[in-house]
Amino acid sequence: MIRIGQGYDVHRLTEGRELWLCGVKVAHSLGLDGHSDADVAIHALCDALLGALALGDIGKHFPDTDPAYKGIDSRKLLAQVCALMASHGYRLGNADVTIMAQRPRLAPYIEEMRRSLAEVTGADTSRISVKATTTERLGFEGREEGISASAVVLLCSTT
Ligand code: MG
Repeated sequence: MIRIGQGYDVHRLTEGRELWLCGVKVAHSLGLDGHSDADVAIHALCDALLGALALGDIGKHFPDTDPAYKGIDSRKLLAQVCALMASHGYRLGNADVTIMAQRPRLAPYIEEMRRSLAEVTGADTSRISVKATTTERLGFEGREEGISASAVVLLCSTT
C-alpha cells in the first residue's frame, strides 16, 4: 500500500524576521512573516504528508489562532505530523521539496536542509530531496515579496 500527497505554501517576506527554510536558518536581510517561524518549506511538506493521509491540512491541525503555535519551530509541527503518519501505519517513502525564491541563493544550504528534514522525519537523507529555483524575476517570488514552496511525498504502509 502506498499513498501520494502534495503540498504548497506561501509566506510574505518582511523586515525584522529570521529566514527559516527546512529547519535551517538562512542568512538574509529579510525573513518570512507568519504566526509560527513561517518555515514555508516545512509547511508545504506537512501539507503533503497530511494530504497523503487525507487528514486535512496544517491549518486544521495547528490553527494560527492558537497561541500555542506562536513563533513555534516548524520542525515541531513536522514531528507531530510524522507521529500522526506512523500512528496511521505509514512511513515516508520519499519526499521532494521545491523552494521558489529569487534571493538569497539557497544552493549552499541544500545539503543541510536535506539533513534537517531527514532528522525530523526519521528518513534517510537519500529519501529526501530539496531543490531551489528562482522564478526569473517573475511573479511575487521574483519581486521578492514572498517565498513559496511545494512538496510531494510518497508514503509506504508499515503493515
Ligand atoms: Mg505556512
